[in-house]
Amino acid sequence: MSIVEAKNVKYAYKSKDEDGKEKEPVFALDDVSIDALEGEFIAILGHNGSGKSTFAKQLNALLVPDEGTVFIAGMDTSEDEHTLEIRKTAGMVFQNPDNQMVASVVEEEVGFGPENIGVPTDEIWERVENALNAVGMYAYRESNPSRLSGGQKQRVAIAGILAMLPKCIVLDEPTAMLDPKGRRDVLEVLHRLCDEQGVTIILITHNMEEVIGADRIFVMDKGKVVISGTPAEIFSNVEEMQRLRLDVPEVTKLAHELKNRGIKLRDGILTAQELVEELKGCNIIAQQ
Ligand code: ADP
Ligand code: MG
Repeated sequence: MSIVEAKNVKYAYKSKDEDGKEKEPVFALDDVSIDALEGEFIAILGHNGSGKSTFAKQLNALLVPDEGTVFIAGMDTSEDEHTLEIRKTAGMVFQNPDNQMVASVVEEEVGFGPENIGVPTDEIWERVENALNAVGMYAYRESNPSRLSGGQKQRVAIAGILAMLPKCIVLDEPTAMLDPKGRRDVLEVLHRLCDEQGVTIILITHNMEEVIGADRIFVMDKGKVVISGTPAEIFSNVEEMQRLRLDVPEVTKLAHELKNRGIKLRDGILTAQELVEELKGCNIIAQQ
């Protein structure tokens, strides 16, 4: 079943000129169609200004389409009566973890969401415990969030969303402000939630290395989806990615260079392991 189904979405931010007249709309989203099935790991890739955040905000009805439709678990985001249920179904995690923290103790932070929607107290504690375990932060339940590292804070923010028992988590560049270890930890948590709990993940990022493990990738440019497919399909086309001013994973680049120099390798090699296997097939490195 589709958890996210955005079809032909157009959206323009309204603005006025000095005389107070509405300016010509510039579409931040221009005919965007993106879907996610239950339990899928979807990555949305694109450089600054391509419309990623505008799209993310459509997924929990912070914004609604000017044209086209967005359905979350079958609910139309443009119908007000679904807004609360949509926000419970698709939780959002943003770039800066500091802006998302309200409490002075981790477990209160995580319990805040369920408390707000009237979950009974006993159940709140159970949800908080499960959510903190799921992100590997249970040991920090009594800590002050402000003392945690960026990666730990983001994992607490993810736990806060998990405690709402969402079907889907939308993360808008959650690792942009983190160090490499923080990034790895957050990514690992997201894959675990997806694999073990079947939570649909929509990860927005401009970091190539983070999308390698996704089921499908949508690449955005100037408000449009310009390419979509599996990671292997997307990164088969190194030149196209570079034309879109997007980098490709280092290993993919190396494989592409080797291919250009006449070594017969398939396209879309993403990991060092895959490259080694391919090179073995070429008899360039010794079989073990
Ligand atoms: P991304 O997240 O990929 O960097 P955004 O969705 O933030 O892209 O922005 C897409 C386009 O919409 C950009 O041209 C940006 O300048 C414009 N935009 C974003 N937010 C606003 C806003 N609040 N008001 C007017 N224009 C905006
Ligand atoms: Mg953005």
